[in-house]
Amino acid sequence: MSDSFEGAASDRRPVQNYVEMGFSPGDRVEFEGFPGEDIRVADGRTFDWLGRKVSLLEIRRQLGARQGVELFRGRITVEGQDLSLAYDDTYGPKANDHASGPAQAARAAIRFADVVPSPAALMGVKAVWGKSNEPVMCFGSRGDAKAKDRGHFQQARLTAEKAIERPFLLTIGGGEQVTADFRGRVLELVRVSGAYGETSALVHDPILRERLAQWPVAVMLTEVYRVVGDPHLIEDLGFPDRRVLENAYDSVRSNDEDIAALWAALKDWPVELRLDVLPPTDFRDPGKPQLCGSLYPKLTATEGKRRYRLAREAERHGALPKEAKRLNRERNGGLLVCEACDFTDEDGKLFDAHHLFPVAAGERETHVGHLAILCPTCHRWAHAKGASIYEPVPVERVRAARSTGAAAE
Ligand SMILES: [Zn+2]
Ligand SMILES: [Zn+2]
Repeated sequence: MSDSFEGAASDRRPVQNYVEMGFSPGDRVEFEGFPGEDIRVADGRTFDWLGRKVSLLEIRRQLGARQGVELFRGRITVEGQDLSLAYDDTYGPKANDHASGPAQAARAAIRFADVVPSPAALMGVKAVWGKSNEPVMCFGSRGDAKAKDRGHFQQARLTAEKAIERPFLLTIGGGEQVTADFRGRVLELVRVSGAYGETSALVHDPILRERLAQWPVAVMLTEVYRVVGDPHLIEDLGFPDRRVLENAYDSVRSNDEDIAALWAALKDWPVELRLDVLPPTDFRDPGKPQLCGSLYPKLTATEGKRRYRLAREAERHGALPKEAKRLNRERNGGLLVCEACDFTDEDGKLFDAHHLFPVAAGERETHVGHLAILCPTCHRWAHAKGASIYEPVPVERVRAARSTGAAAE
């Protein structure tokens, strides 16, 4: 095994193969060849990596793909928890090292301003203890749920209302449960839908539901972006202190000056759409505040067809596919690389731009972060093997499926 964390950033190659093995979330995972620190992941789970240094390939090999564990290029997720940061926090690239490192290899980061064109689209800031596991944002309750008190839903409803005009929110690590490595860091950019309700109805994972008990109401999110490198408000973004987080614990802090300052500091910062935290494919953003019971609002067949058509239009026409190819080239030294199988060529005609969540929620402009560059075979695979024409196979699954046969060492 020649690749190790000791190499310079440019020595790190994207890992392309993995071998399946057994692993359950919560298991104590020991690696031969790691310096013995505990590596904390965002949800408080601890992994012990013992011994000498170990390569990312080795980590991937040992975590393996199994129930609840997903591997795709550059990322390791366990039940939606991005474990890549176990890498980042130890030997990985630091906050400003965007260009290299496996955690960044999966997709091109696009600019914050490509998603949030102006401060007017940014609602504000919410303090959170970690990164999203599911596409929801949870709030505490001030009213009494049992008494059917309207106040129970107040914060979530207000947020859903504001989202009509200003759909985007920044999450920043803060509060009692946040781990030290996330405190004061901008973690995610999220897009808020109009759907809100009891957290227990909107969150699927029972363990997460339990953990969120003290935040009993939630709004559904339609897009979650990682803010690459989790920039620190003070060290990386130049804020004098963490005052933008005042009053951001229970509700959304939406002071205009803070919003303008955050937007200006982040406008060129790279962000990446999180493909592991998408709303259900049949979820529909109601486009206005809507209280949900045990069911979220769903797409009708007609809407599904229309959105599928819009997505195919976006794949075929206009400036976006061109821009997506340009970005792909830029990060691959002038060549185009299929994001699912790593097929490489210099001829742009051999690649398609594929829309990542055709039927996902809401009416909106498609932007370049919604497109993946695929070779024709992977593109066909994604559409042919999807559950329906509206639900293409996610790119990371195309990768896993297409690499299994080829994963020889
Ligand atoms: Zn391919
Ligand atoms: Zn497609």
